[in-house]
Amino acid sequence: DFAHGVALYVDDVTVSFDGFKALNALSLAIDVGELRCIIGPNGAGKTTMMDCITGKTRPDSGRVAFGSNIDLLRLSEPEISQIGVGRKFQKPTVYEELTVFENLELALKADRGVRAALFWRLNGEQRDRIAEVLALIHLQDELRRTAGLLSHGQKQWLEIGMLLMQDPKLLLLDEPVAGMTDEETERTAELFLSLEGRHSLVVVEHDMKFVEQLTEGRKKVTVLHEGSVLAEGRLAEVQANEKVVEVYLGR
Ligand code: ADP
Repeated sequence: DFAHGVALYVDDVTVSFDGFKALNALSLAIDVGELRCIIGPNGAGKTTMMDCITGKTRPDSGRVAFGSNIDLLRLSEPEISQIGVGRKFQKPTVYEELTVFENLELALKADRGVRAALFWRLNGEQRDRIAEVLALIHLQDELRRTAGLLSHGQKQWLEIGMLLMQDPKLLLLDEPVAGMTDEETERTAELFLSLEGRHSLVVVEHDMKFVEQLTEGRKKVTVLHEGSVLAEGRLAEVQANEKVVEVYLGR
């Protein structure tokens, strides 16, 4: 089912809070292996959209589907995570007192319960996967380091690495480079570009330089405004779009 085609369908989704529509007939589709950046001013509905995909918020109406036929609106938050939807919030939540390696090890065992985590030894394949992820997140020289001693950027990468241990089909990332240095931001772009293809990625981001690096001048960007899609297309196209300029600069 996930060899090709659509990874995620958000179809005509409306969410109201006390009569106010945080999402207003929102529709978008993400292809398998696609890296899609979502931009839009504060209050546009980006967080609410992510919440609807992960089961944290239930829409009033509309459809959210994973792949071509899995109805996410019928699944609980943990079930959605188990079938391969990983979410990274803005703030890193690593286990500060454990080492980098132990954090990844724990993430690998997390869905098997505490007993498994205590007594189950890693096999060769699992060690290889940890090594592979350590290289991807540029922490191969820090594996024995206590996570609490890492830089802000390194903690963010470690948390992304922890998500990768579950090999999610779809990764949702909320402002992943907030607070990072320019160099860390560039490395994060490289990391995401290397994940593209194997995973589908939805990146909510304010940092336009980062969005430029991720889209490489050709990928589609979605602009949200007042709970629906205002514009969709290449970054240069949407930035030249009159409606988008108006929304960002005020009337
Ligand atoms: P973004 O992430 O793009 O900044 P949000 O999805 O957080 O936008 O919010 C969209 C709109 O919905 C905002 O006007 C926000 O105030 C409102 N909103 C979000 N969550 C709630 C809630 N739980 N109760 C009431 N209003 C909310």
